[in-house]
Amino acid sequence: MATKYFVICSGGPGLFHAADLKHDVGWGAFVSAPVFRMDSTGTPSPPPLGGDEKIWALIYRPAYILRWEDDLKAAPGTGQEEDVQFVRSKGASSYVDHLERRHKARGWELEWFDDKVELWDQLRAIPGKISRFWMYGHGVPGQLWLRLGRPPNRVIGPPEKSEIIEAKDIEDNFDLADKFINTIVPTTRFNDTAHRIITCNSRSNPAGERSIAEIWRDVFQVHVSGRRGKADFTTINSSNFPDMSGEPDTTLQLGHTPTGVTLEAPFIPSLPRELLATYGSPENAKKLFKQIFGTTPTGTVEETYQAVDSHFSTRNIDNYTKIGGHVPLIFRSLWGKLPGRILRSTIEIETDYKGIVIHQSKGYDGATPRDIEEYQMIKNNKEDIFWHFIVNKKGDVYEGKNLNFRGKQFSDKALEKEKVGICVIGDFENVFFGFGGDSLTDHQEKSLKKLVGGLKEAFPSITTVDTHKKHETKKKCPGENLKDFVSDLKKLVI
Ligand SMILES: [Zn+2]
Repeated sequence: MATKYFVICSGGPGLFHAADLKHDVGWGAFVSAPVFRMDSTGTPSPPPLGGDEKIWALIYRPAYILRWEDDLKAAPGTGQEEDVQFVRSKGASSYVDHLERRHKARGWELEWFDDKVELWDQLRAIPGKISRFWMYGHGVPGQLWLRLGRPPNRVIGPPEKSEIIEAKDIEDNFDLADKFINTIVPTTRFNDTAHRIITCNSRSNPAGERSIAEIWRDVFQVHVSGRRGKADFTTINSSNFPDMSGEPDTTLQLGHTPTGVTLEAPFIPSLPRELLATYGSPENAKKLFKQIFGTTPTGTVEETYQAVDSHFSTRNIDNYTKIGGHVPLIFRSLWGKLPGRILRSTIEIETDYKGIVIHQSKGYDGATPRDIEEYQMIKNNKEDIFWHFIVNKKGDVYEGKNLNFRGKQFSDKALEKEKVGICVIGDFENVFFGFGGDSLTDHQEKSLKKLVGGLKEAFPSITTVDTHKKHETKKKCPGENLKDFVSDLKKLVI
């Protein structure tokens, strides 16, 4: 298999400024974060990569040279002295030297770039396709800053022109689209975009214009996630893999049309700690193992967890690859605040879904997926979102509950087990002699059809699409206004 490259691109810090203790107090935020993301304990360990993926780091060198020179001259008590001493204690003669040693020790390729033009050339020089691109650095709406400026009469400001990446810089390098693989990375419990711009404001739109993440998506034709507002590197650096809570704001994935989406090997956490969090006690893992493989596990606890995990991971990738080939999906890890509190009782050992049930969101205030999560999981303390998918008025398709788990849709548990639940945002009731209530938007219609098509491909055993009301006649869900459309959807799966 051809080697693919996981590119970690780091901008750099500005100089220390005593009047600005919010930015670049230390020198290393943008080069430490990626290291922490790679391992579970904050100490160096091999990154959880697929076998044919190699890390290729690109770092903006001038920032680290300038910062080193400045820190050498520092007044005591600012922390700069300690940074210098720390790096020297590691046997390095500068930040640049320290980073070179650190990357070498991990077996990561490191290339420096000295201005924004060189960045693109370095990307072009990578000897294969880019499976993941993670950018760390500073940013304002519509611009990535390779360094934070400290203009003469101001504490904080833009850096040099050669250090500011704007729309045009990205657009001028459109030829690199061939290099980026449009990838999502499904894992056992959640799925991720492969390409992430982890800077402040990468998803903040300047007035009337596209954000950096949107431009990146449009030019390179990939799923990408970005951050609206501030990226807090204190949080990022304290939440270790696989807890991605620190980065970036997960509401902000941008789907690109996933024709030809390639899915990568999942991250399979190697530590029992993470596996424990997924499946509960070792006893539960044993029970699951037995249910899946029909035999009692003979390996270590960790091996048992691994086997269970890989069963669900493989299935997860299969399912979401097929569905993602029909309609862009916004995965749970990219919009939700909370991971589902997985209960063993709702894990489906076999997902043989036979039908789809359509619900409406009526009754949830505001009714964004986030509101629904808040209502169901925080206010009502449910273990997870009720439905597998949520389709908003713009036609965005959100992953709700992972398909490895049974949805919570109505009281008949046996029937529930066979049904994929889709919630359509809106209140489709209130019909008064044919008037009132929401109608589906065109976007919703299109997305629902595609989603149903994708589900049929993933689960050929699906032969019906019904309303919630059909299974609980006292309910009105999903409302009179959807009835005819649900019949139309049914024709797609027969
Ligand atoms: Zn319902």
